[in-house]
Formats: sequence, structure tokens, C-alpha cells
Amino acid sequence: MVDLPAILGGSPVRTRPWPSWPRATEEDEARVVAVLREGVWSRADGPWVRRLEEDFARVHGAAHGVAMMSGTVTLVLALRALGVGPGDEVIVPPYTFVATATAVLEVGALPVFADIHPGTLCLDPDAVAAAVSPRTRAVIPVHLGGHPADMDRILQVARRHRLAVVEDAAHAHGARWRGRSVGSFGDAGSFSFQASKNMTSGEGGILLTSREDLFRAVRSLRNCGRAEGGAWYEHHLLGGNHRLTELQAALLVGQLGRLEEEGTRREAAGKVLEEALPSVGLAPQARDPGVDRHGRHLFIARYRPEEFAGLSREGFVRALAAEGIPASPGYPYPLYRNPLFQNRAWDRRVTGPGDARTDYGRARCPVAEDWCRAAVWLPQQVLLAGPEEMGDVVEAVARIRRHAPRVVRALGEAGRS
Ligand SMILES: *Cc1c(COP(=O)(O)O)cnc(C)c1O
Repeated sequence: MVDLPAILGGSPVRTRPWPSWPRATEEDEARVVAVLREGVWSRADGPWVRRLEEDFARVHGAAHGVAMMSGTVTLVLALRALGVGPGDEVIVPPYTFVATATAVLEVGALPVFADIHPGTLCLDPDAVAAAVSPRTRAVIPVHLGGHPADMDRILQVARRHRLAVVEDAAHAHGARWRGRSVGSFGDAGSFSFQASKNMTSGEGGILLTSREDLFRAVRSLRNCGRAEGGAWYEHHLLGGNHRLTELQAALLVGQLGRLEEEGTRREAAGKVLEEALPSVGLAPQARDPGVDRHGRHLFIARYRPEEFAGLSREGFVRALAAEGIPASPGYPYPLYRNPLFQNRAWDRRVTGPGDARTDYGRARCPVAEDWCRAAVWLPQQVLLAGPEEMGDVVEAVARIRRHAPRVVRALGEAGRS
């Protein structure tokens, strides 16, 4: 039989399913059922939430954790507790999920986009330094795909300009930079437990901090502005109900227990791909030598059509899907190209009309633009299959490359590049 790519009618390289995600063990099920039967599904400072907060903070080397209902709310409350508000600017990368920037708008401040590093895809410390203005109050580095941002140099820039640092670690549970866990470097570190993330309770998030003042403020903001030990209907701060439920926390305690082992598996699988993919035409996200543990929420590589007879990235992703490899092109454009920013679709709390700084039509981050055109992402559950199974990914890529001219013709892409 001829070795045809699956998109041209061959049989797929991968027919066995990848690990399903999310997944729950029998122990998880038993724990959740026990919480259901006990009857306390949520309460301020419930025992499962408390245990999750203490364990997650300890594992990541921070003094405190505050669990919440999403990894967006954790960012918003961190900024609010830091006193960031109208008139302030916060530096963010444009190659990230929209929450990194909308959290800034939610507190009435202005996101200022600084470009990413061309190798690691994380916020570039030099671009941060260049974006600082007298109004800059904070910076939000994102540990993109699980690769820690250069925290040494970002903290250096932040100290020089007296900026607060909120790490967006939504992709980076358990990741380590020079021996220390992400989420413990900045004034606060934000994690998401949304369904796709490496730890999940469907929705959820946690904020880490070792600052007592922030810890107290964020706990109050999460809990309708109540004071520690105060009465239930006595409110001190403009907070809201942003609590995580006991059911969710019980699930997450089980996952936290598996995080190191699952992380080791994903990391080992990522190393196989890092070594093998360049020889079949893909260039992986660079790995800074300061990274001790890549969080591996994503495996990201650069796709070059010239290595594949001019096949478009979209055609390549389709061909991979046909082989049983669930890849995606990732973020389609830098955040500032979203209608939200182009139309300035927010109210006057943020800026009055005509403020040139909100003219995001002029924002230019060439490195992020370039990666938005070139990236191919693999999701974490593929890596969770372990290093032994990465041969399927490599073989699928190699096969598409071998037959690239035929794939180009079949997809009617001839002449493009
Ligand atoms: C998922 C995510 C968040 C938070 O998202 P929620 O869905 O609100 O938990 C923040 N930043 C990044 C980069 C993310 O991927």
C-alpha cells in the first residue's frame, strides 16, 4: 500500500485516542460525592478551599493562596488590591489570552502592549523597559504555554521603575524558573483552573501572594468586601462574590497531588518533540536555560511553508488533524487587533474619547504579529500521553512533509506560499 497522508486518503498515523481531558480518578469521584452528601457545597473559607489554598501555595513556594471562580477574576482582584485604577497604565504582552489585558481595563486602567521575545514568546524585558511611562504602575508577564518569562530581568525592570508585578501563570502550574516556582516571583501570581488548563475544576482560579496586605485585601474582595472575623452583613470594601465552591476545591486537591507526576510526563514528551521536530521542518519555542520545569500547557512550534513546498499553515494543521494529531494555529492575531481594542468598546471609566494612547490601531508588536502567522500549537493532553507516544506526532509531520507537493495540489493551494 502506498504511504499516503491521511488528508489524501491514507490511513491516519494515529488512531488510538489521546488521553482525555479533564479526567477524574475514582478517588476524585469519591471525594466529590462525599462533599455532595455532607451538604456544604460552598461557604466562605470552607475546609476544601482552605486545604487547596494552603497546599497550592506550599507547592509553589508562596505564603498564601486565595481561590476564586476564574483566572480572570484573580487578575482583576490582584490589580484592584494593588490599587491600580483610572489614570494608570499596565504593561502586558499581546500574545496571550484576552483576560491578561481585559483585567487591566476592568479596574479602569489602560493596557500598554509590549512585544514578546522571538524565541521564548514571553514578554520581552527590553520591550517592557521601553514601554514604561510616568503612569506605568504594573506589569503582567505571561508564562506562555508554560515557559516561564525571564523573571530575573522583568523584576529588575520593575524594581528600577517601582512597578508591581502580577504573573499570569494560567498556563504554568508547577513550572519553575531557576529552581523557583512561577507565581512566587511577583507581588502576586495568578493561575486558572478553566477546563483546558493543566489543573481544572471546569472553571476556577487561584491567586498566590506572599504579601500580607495583598492577601488580606484579596480575601476581602473575593468575599463581598467582608472583614476577617466581621459580621456577615458588614462590608468594608467594594468586593463581590468570587468564591470557588467546595466541590471544585475537592477535585483540585486530587489534581494537585498528581501535578508533579503529570508535569514530569509532559516535560519528557516535550523534550522528545524539541529534539525531533527540527529534523522534520518545525522549529520549537526556544527554551531559556533558566527554565527548570516547563509547564507544558502547550507545545508551540514555528511552521515555515518553505519547508513544506509552500503548504499554508492552515493546510498543514488540517493535514495534521487528518493524521489524528489535534493541532491548532493558536492566537489568530495580537490582542490589540481584536474589535474590542480597535473599536475601544469600553466605557469612560478607562479614558475619555480622543486619548491617543488608546489608538490601538497604531499598536505594533512585530514579533507577536509574526508568531500569530507562524505558530502551531499542540495541547497538553497530547503530551500527557508521554514520551513513548511522541513518535506519532513526529511521523505525522514527516509524512505530510514527504508528500507536501501533492497535499498543496490537492488542497488547491498551488502558487501560494
Ligand atoms: C485561561 C487564561 C486566563 C484565565 O482564564 P479564565 O478562563 O478566566 O480562568 C488568563 N490568562 C491566560 C493566558 C489564560 O490562558
